[in-house]
Amino acid sequence: MDLRIAILPGDGIGPEVTGQAVKALQAIGQRFGHNIETTSHLIGGAALDTVGVPLPDETLQACLESDAVLLGAVGAPKYDSNPPKLKPESALLELRKQLGVFANLRPAFLYSSLVDASPLKREIVEGTDILVVRELTGGLYFGQPRGFEGEGADERAFNTMAYSAYEVERIARIAFAAARKRRGKVTSVDKANVLETSQLWRRVVTGIAAEYSDVRLEHMYVDNCSMQLISRPRDFDVILTENLFGDILSDEAAMLTGSIGMLASASIGGRKGLYEPVHGSAPDIAGQNKANPLATIASVAMMLRYSFNLAQEADEIEAAIRDTLDLGLRTADIATAGSTILSTEEMGDQICRRLLLVASESRSLYSV
Ligand code: NAD
Repeated sequence: MDLRIAILPGDGIGPEVTGQAVKALQAIGQRFGHNIETTSHLIGGAALDTVGVPLPDETLQACLESDAVLLGAVGAPKYDSNPPKLKPESALLELRKQLGVFANLRPAFLYSSLVDASPLKREIVEGTDILVVRELTGGLYFGQPRGFEGEGADERAFNTMAYSAYEVERIARIAFAAARKRRGKVTSVDKANVLETSQLWRRVVTGIAAEYSDVRLEHMYVDNCSMQLISRPRDFDVILTENLFGDILSDEAAMLTGSIGMLASASIGGRKGLYEPVHGSAPDIAGQNKANPLATIASVAMMLRYSFNLAQEADEIEAAIRDTLDLGLRTADIATAGSTILSTEEMGDQICRRLLLVASESRSLYSV
């Protein structure tokens, strides 16, 4: 395949971690004979400093003309007092909007060698492998009317939670399709005992489930789900939920796996897929070559799986991450007693080494 990927390194550790992810992408291209062309573009504070806006037209155009987008992170304390439209983070919201990505996929996968990094006991958390599918462009965060009115003790603030059947249908289809490629179970999370939007949500999801008779559907109230995630995380496969509930539950699920430096994400369903680590720009460790690049490398695996349907390539990147961790090789954020601490670049090199090692092993197998 010929793939054109727009890389948006951004701020802080963004350039460091995307640099390693590009290396992994090129290694997998070499391994499977794909021609992968990457181009780098400004976003966030880096764009503000250079051209005065957080999302330059050139960057947006390059994203729209690419096959997929990989983003590092944006933001730094020096922009904290900027007006909202000149904050680096505003670029991210605008980019998601322009790309039309309405489905946010966040895996919470616990690598067996990192079980002790989880805040939960081994016997509860070991084997956890959850995919949270969160609706990203509707619900309370976007509903109108919203705002403030009145003054003093009479001042009130209001937001609107609204969903159309169409919005629920399209996100439900993404969750069911993802479950088909996993363990075949969808837990749809709502608050249907109280909210009309949730009653519509439940009705529409139940209707879509009929098209996926090989996938098991269960409904769960959001308060119950937040408890079950902690008490029996292994029982979840795909969690499907609306924007606000998904924002909270995906962070809760993510923490089960221990470190923010391991968490990948995909935003899909629009014109192009947007792939990025869950973490921010980590200004406290930026420029020190010690950030964990694995979340960004795992985001590349998601890109290969969801934008290009290259499941084997994605599997191999994930296997390279697992094998590297199993050898006790760690960046500082996930180090445990007895492990070897690597820099950002060394971790990227180790992943590439494993990807290319598989290549040379299979070449020698074929030549026998
Ligand atoms: P953060 O995720 O940047 O950092 C939180 C903590 O986790 C820090 O101690 C950091 O050193 C550590 N950390 C994060 N990623 C790591 C990695 N890959 N390897 C090792 N350690 C890692 O969150 P924050 O400090 O709240 O935010 C910093 C800046 O990032 C802010 O400007 C914020 O607005 C921005 N931010 C951007 C995004 C994004 O671009 N998607 C997301 C969250 C925050």
